[in-house]
Parts: sequence; C-alpha cells; structure tokens
Amino acid sequence: MTLSAQTTIVSGIQPSGTLHIGNYFGAIRQHLALQRAHEAYFFIVNYHALTSLRDSEALRRYTLDVALDYLALGFDPAAAALFVQSDVPQVTELAWILYTLTPVSQLEKGVSYKDKVAQGLSPNAGLFNYPVLQAADILIYGGTLVPVGADQKQHIELTRDLAVRFNATFAAENDLLPVPEPYILEEVAVVPGVDGRKMSKSYGNTIGIFDEGKSLKQKVMGIVTDSTPLEAPKNPDADNVFALIKLFATPDERAEIAEAYRAGGYGYGHAKKALLRLIDTAFAPFREKRRELAQRPDDVRDVLKEGGERARLKAEHTMAQVRDAVGLIQTTRP
Ligand code: ADP
Repeated sequence: MTLSAQTTIVSGIQPSGTLHIGNYFGAIRQHLALQRAHEAYFFIVNYHALTSLRDSEALRRYTLDVALDYLALGFDPAAAALFVQSDVPQVTELAWILYTLTPVSQLEKGVSYKDKVAQGLSPNAGLFNYPVLQAADILIYGGTLVPVGADQKQHIELTRDLAVRFNATFAAENDLLPVPEPYILEEVAVVPGVDGRKMSKSYGNTIGIFDEGKSLKQKVMGIVTDSTPLEAPKNPDADNVFALIKLFATPDERAEIAEAYRAGGYGYGHAKKALLRLIDTAFAPFREKRRELAQRPDDVRDVLKEGGERARLKAEHTMAQVRDAVGLIQTTRP
C-alpha cells in the first residue's frame, strides 16, 4: 500500500460494546498502520451507536473505552485525530443533505441492514439510514482511503455513489467531495465469532481485545466446533478455532498446527489452548499499557478534545462550501 501526499485516511468505530478481535484485525490494526498518512481521522461513532444502544451511561463508558483502547494499542495523537463523532455535529447536517440524494431502494438493499433485521434486531429509521451518516462521516473530512472490514464494502460503494451524485448535481465545476476508495485486507476480511457467524458486538459472539484470565478462557473454550473425535484427522480450513489461530500465529506456527489437525490425535481442546496462548502473548503488552492509561482519564479526554477541534475545523470548511453549493443561505455564523 503506497500513500500519496494527498491521501486522507478516515474510519469510524462504534462504541456500542467492547472492542473485539474482529475489529482489531479487520480495522484497528490497519488504522494504526496508516495513522501517519498525510491526514488521518478516526472517529468514535456514538451517533451510530444510538441505533442500537439505549443506555446513556453505557454509551459514555464505551465511548471513552474505545479511546483508551486505541491509545493502548498504539494510536499516536501527534500523528492523527482521534475524536468523538458528536463533537462534530456538522456530520448530521451533511447526512441530511445526502439523504435527499439517496434512493430509498438503495438503502433497502443494504446487506448489513438486512442481516441485522434477519438476526432479529428491530429496525429503527436510524439503522436504516446508518450508511448515509457513515457516508457523511467520510466525505466531510475529504476522506480518500477508508480502511474497513469486508462487511463495509457496500457502504463505501454508497459513499462513492453519493459523492459522485453530489458533485454532478451541485458542484460539477470543482468536484467538491472526493470519491473515496475502500482499503480491505482480504485475509482478515471477516473474522468469525465464537459461534461461527461474523464476530460482531451486535451478535454477542465476541472475544474482546482486552479480555483476559477466566473470561478470555471461557470464551475461547466456548468456540463452536464440529464433533469430529479427537483421534480423527481434521480440516483446519473448516474450523473456527483455526480461523482465529491463523490471525495470531507466525507462518511456522500456523503450518505446524495445520499439520497437527490433518494428522489426527489433535483435538479442538488442544487447538483452543494453543489459541489462548497466542492471544495472551499478542495482547498482554497492550493490556498493561491500557491499565496505565486508565489511571489518567484526563489525558484521554484531552486527546479526544484536540482531535475533535482539528476535525471540526476541517468539517466546517467542507460544510461552508456544501451549504453554498446546495443553496442553503447562512444569515448567522456558528
Ligand atoms: P461491530 O460489528 O462489532 O459493531 P463495527 O461496525 O463497529 O463492528 O465495525 C468497526 C470496524 O471493524 C469496521 O471497519 C468493520 O468492518 C470491522 N469489523 C467488525 N467486525 C469485523 C469482523 N468480524 N471481521 C473483520 N472486520 C470486522
């Protein structure tokens, strides 16, 4: 991946629960690898979380937890902006303008929306319109590259459509909103949860990045496997435990464990213990760092405040042009 001098990275993460290893491998790791791009904005999407979370105390806690998690995992506030979505309310204004350019039929085809409804979530209008607010999040900061998991591909397509439509309708002469590209690493595109479905906060099937001890062990030991007996050879590529092992193991470790699966005499219990060790080794230093940072909540808030100020400046700059392009007159200034 080569970054040009103009690359602007944007990506959001929902504070609707505890961050999990699907978020880490699907998105956060890429965020951290790209944080030193020309410009980078990472936002904690608390407006989006309201589509599923009805507990103000929990929303506040998760929001600050995400910030703490990012800092513990290596986010560098000097390099990029980390902030809370609602600190830049202009995104809801842009979202409104984008709604008026979005065919309802396009949202009805939303895979993530349909999936959540199929899983029994009752769809409020916020959930239905979720991808448009996401498009506003990307376009308001002039995002050109969006590191996400594969589940977000369609949302980025919608964002691209909206940028093109906005420019064609209102800003033909200067392409006001850049058309972003998704950045998806195929090998970590969909991390499975302990039940084999996509790991997601909404499905209660996650292993948290900062889980440890008994709770981590319980989750790993609870991963759903088939009932092939211990002695029998097994196909590593058809197993949820191995899918997770692959994310953490070195190529040598991976080959060795795959070989043990195929040889037989290696049970899923063995594989789970191997996974537990790998997770512990990979995340132990981050847990330590997180404990340290948790002692300094004011520093975490300062990072968010500074990131929010940077983001708001950029957003207001875009919005002044957007308002003008669509014909919204401003008789007072914010
Ligand atoms: P969740 O589904 O847990 O609420 P979010 O919607 O907050 O996750 O997603 C945050 C980022 O993490 C997105 O870029 C998304 O693509 C990525 N992501 C979420 N779950 C997974 C997964 N199981 N595998 C890979 N990437 C994922």
